[in-house]
Amino acid sequence: MSKSVLVYSEKLARFQAYDGYPWYFERSDAALKLMRRQGLIERPGVTVVEPEAASVEALASFHTREYLDLLAVANGGTFEERMFANGLGTAECPVFPGCFDYHRLVAGSVLCGVEALADPDVWAVFVPSAGMHHAGPDFAAGFCYLNDPVLAIQRLLGQGLRVFYLDIDAHHGDRVQAAFYGDDRVLTVSLHESPETLFPFHTGFVHEIGEGAGAGYSVNLPLAAGTGDDVYGWGFRQVVPPLLDAFKPDLIVAEIGADVLAADPQTHLLLTTHGYCDAVQWVRQTGLRVLALGGGGYLLGATVRAWTLAWAILNDVPLTDDAELLFSGVFRGDGLPSLHDRPVYIPEGTQTQAWEACRSAVEYIRAHQFKTLGVRL
Ligand SMILES: [Zn+2]
Repeated sequence: MSKSVLVYSEKLARFQAYDGYPWYFERSDAALKLMRRQGLIERPGVTVVEPEAASVEALASFHTREYLDLLAVANGGTFEERMFANGLGTAECPVFPGCFDYHRLVAGSVLCGVEALADPDVWAVFVPSAGMHHAGPDFAAGFCYLNDPVLAIQRLLGQGLRVFYLDIDAHHGDRVQAAFYGDDRVLTVSLHESPETLFPFHTGFVHEIGEGAGAGYSVNLPLAAGTGDDVYGWGFRQVVPPLLDAFKPDLIVAEIGADVLAADPQTHLLLTTHGYCDAVQWVRQTGLRVLALGGGGYLLGATVRAWTLAWAILNDVPLTDDAELLFSGVFRGDGLPSLHDRPVYIPEGTQTQAWEACRSAVEYIRAHQFKTLGVRL
């Protein structure tokens, strides 16, 4: 029987940074609550696993010892000016009591997810708290202190596996791309809002294709602000399935950030849960095993709805209208009566620009990465 694993710890919701910090520590709690209400947890084959914090030893496979030492100091909650140089003490990566503990537990959750995949019957693992794709070897950025996707991929490579890293978060998966930029055992594919209008700004352009042995193995599909389901779905289908077929990975690591949704206050893409779910559905339909990481999402209600829908898809559970009606918009900032979003209106001029940007990026990828990987058209 196929099995699935959700990695979750109630400890994650116990942390606090400052009032109004856009990163919700209660995100995985809220997600689990909604999944449970939809009958997606107490069912045959589903296991909820409690993680342990990652050891410093484990973190040192990507992060520098100096940075880890600094995080251990920051864990006390007192900011020191020297921490700025490592990205700590900003509005997005504040120094708060337990900041290292929290992020060690998130990283540990992902390593626990990798361990769960040792059971060949486990088909899907979801770690809602994880997906910190902006953390560098010695710095924090964009709410990310420790790069759990990199740590997971390193372990999987250590097992001799070829990894397809798919990042559908609204932000470019910059530090995962950078970590494997010269490596042809990992194909990183990131669909994101253009770095011209969104953090991390300097990276995520279509011409970043990898280098050395990894040339052609980094793929970026930057999308114009205002891109909605139609354009996104078209771009996704043009690029992602052919690359996967050519690369022939052993499994997929997917960063499924929900900040692509129109409701998200930090980004400018205009997807609905329908467009989001189409991407997740494709992941499921590949038939490959998947390690899914929650990623970003800055409107709690929209984020947990998206993750709940994703978890249903990964478990092959069709959600009926009846199931949707169980949800009554109980989470902060979200008053929707159903799990799915309403349609989003996109002005014609915005649509046209979105099509142009997407078409030209797809053309570039066909001319470069498709050739390198031997994609047959
Ligand atoms: Zn994001």
